[in-house]
Amino acid sequence: SDHDIEYPLTPEHMNWDKYFGEFGEERRVEFADIGCGYGGLLMRLSPKFPGTLMIGMEIRVKVSDYVNEKIQALRKHHSEAGHYRNIAVLRSNAMKYMPNYFRKGQLSKMFFLFPDPHFKNKKHKWRIITPTLLSEYAYVLREGGLIYTITDVKELHEWMAKHLSEHPLFERLTEAEMNSDFVVEMLYDSTEEGQKVTRNSGEKWPAVFRRLPNPPL
Ligand code: SAM
Repeated sequence: SDHDIEYPLTPEHMNWDKYFGEFGEERRVEFADIGCGYGGLLMRLSPKFPGTLMIGMEIRVKVSDYVNEKIQALRKHHSEAGHYRNIAVLRSNAMKYMPNYFRKGQLSKMFFLFPDPHFKNKKHKWRIITPTLLSEYAYVLREGGLIYTITDVKELHEWMAKHLSEHPLFERLTEAEMNSDFVVEMLYDSTEEGQKVTRNSGEKWPAVFRRLPNPPL
């Protein structure tokens, strides 16, 4: 439940200092891992983009607390080199408050790794990718920004790909474009859920979408 979540009135009210300290001064969050779970992707991405601020959004209190402790431990362990200062976790409901946290066009990458499938028809409205939410994600993503998705549930893959492809502000990357982005290979096995699917020999379906320019009025 999310009734206890305090969220900023506007992005100007957001205190990122609490998450990134000194390292965050003069920088803005650019990557968001939506429903980050135990944070494996952030920890893998951190050294690949050492100057980029990344936030994991996670609704479960215990899970986000765990991720925070892990990040603090990593920072401490690597304090001399200063690694892992660019990642942090935020407990929030990403289906509700995105434009409260991020300015228009602030993000360059958003990740949706193994999102909850909500199988039943009646529950599809709880999926993290819906036409309404896609318009919010398009608002916080810059032109040319990317949405990365992966799931082991074929039906959910088809649902996400359908809604993203049909949305006027997104286009799907071709196979060749996906192959030339080294981030794509990190989608498969960086997170707990991805590793679990591998252990169970499950299939995985990735797809990536580009934020198109706004059409002329
Ligand atoms: N991405 C992670 C991974 O690959 O291991 C976690 C996948 S898990 C199946 C889905 C995660 O999304 C859960 O940790 C859940 O708590 C989180 N989640 C679900 N709805 C959310 C929401 N509205 N806002 C933020 N997190 C959410």
